[in-house]
Amino acid sequence: MSPTLNFERMHTRIGALAAINRLEDGACCRLALTDADAHGRTLAIGWMRDAGLNVIIDAVGNILGIGAGEGAPVMTGSHIDTVASGGELDGALGVVAGIEVAQTLREQGIRTKRPIAVAIFTNEEGVRFQPDMMGSLVFAGGLSLHEALSSRAHDGVSLGEELQRLGFAGDRPCGTPRPCAFLELHIEQGPILDRHAESLGVVTDLQGISWRELVIDGVSNHAGTTPMSMRHDAGYCAARIVTHMRNVARHMGGAQVATVGSIRLLPNLINVIARRAIVSVDLRNTSESRLREAEQALEALIAELQRTEGVRISSRQLARTEPVVFDEGVIEAISAAAVNLGLPVRRMTSGAGHDAQMMARICPTAMIFVPSRGGISHNPQEYTEPRHLEIGATVLLQTMLRLAG
Ligand SMILES: [Zn+2]
Repeated sequence: MSPTLNFERMHTRIGALAAINRLEDGACCRLALTDADAHGRTLAIGWMRDAGLNVIIDAVGNILGIGAGEGAPVMTGSHIDTVASGGELDGALGVVAGIEVAQTLREQGIRTKRPIAVAIFTNEEGVRFQPDMMGSLVFAGGLSLHEALSSRAHDGVSLGEELQRLGFAGDRPCGTPRPCAFLELHIEQGPILDRHAESLGVVTDLQGISWRELVIDGVSNHAGTTPMSMRHDAGYCAARIVTHMRNVARHMGGAQVATVGSIRLLPNLINVIARRAIVSVDLRNTSESRLREAEQALEALIAELQRTEGVRISSRQLARTEPVVFDEGVIEAISAAAVNLGLPVRRMTSGAGHDAQMMARICPTAMIFVPSRGGISHNPQEYTEPRHLEIGATVLLQTMLRLAG
């Protein structure tokens, strides 16, 4: 007999997390290590204990619920912090479904060879403290504990101080127990599954991300009296960057995307040639070498604009992550679990960052996606049909069973 999850309990728990500090427009606001986040943590720890998990907290505040069994655990999990105006499901789904898997196995008397573990990672969203995906990054050894604890919010308080204040500064060293595999169930936060009316995705890789801020300095002058040949127009250069990078991405094809999401012009007046433009450039690709090609195209354009337009352009990297390729064995386990349930599954790339990408540094990892209606997330309108949540949790359960023996 294969175990069946208690979906009612799962939906109720997702609702209980969402109800904490819910804003008037329905948005969830549990910024990392605020009182609201602490409230959510306390609830989730109670559920972990109900599920028979042994709860430990590490030095960066990650909460780990560990089940019975021998050897390295098969771990699942996600985060329960939200952005300032978030939805019910981002993060919460993966945590609640993971606890539900553990509780179902216990209630139905199913013992796995390896332990099942459920993780709640600290500060995934990175809104209040930077960097994002912090808890999983520290767990995977990619950021020192000291740096994480010293990260300061806008109001001046450090992450370490907030952990102390809220009682989540744990005594366990980060990175233990080291799992033998990691799985994360998450909403897609993009439109692909919804657009194709599909209920399930297995994430094979994540895009690498390159963020730059360019400051273009030209010369302000009269819009009427300055001949076109004598201009050093920062606004024009900004426009060239927008159109050129779009053409680069279209020409490269494949997974390459390019976005200029922010342009600020100074002095920003109708009859004055802009003396300064501040431009953001967001480049992403699943291939590191292709991403570098796009970055080089941007550099070549900067050099050309400086030469031909007589402007000065300074460029600052705001973020840079390499693409992550998930483990083919775990991808296969997810796909096999889905096929066994008669569910078609789409292999796909994640356009958003997740704790799983950090865990991929230390153990075989992959992710399960369920659709987001309209591709909307980080928004109170975020929605996934209950049956899709149930399908995702069922595939999580079946995959955990395959991996844990
Ligand atoms: Zn998330």
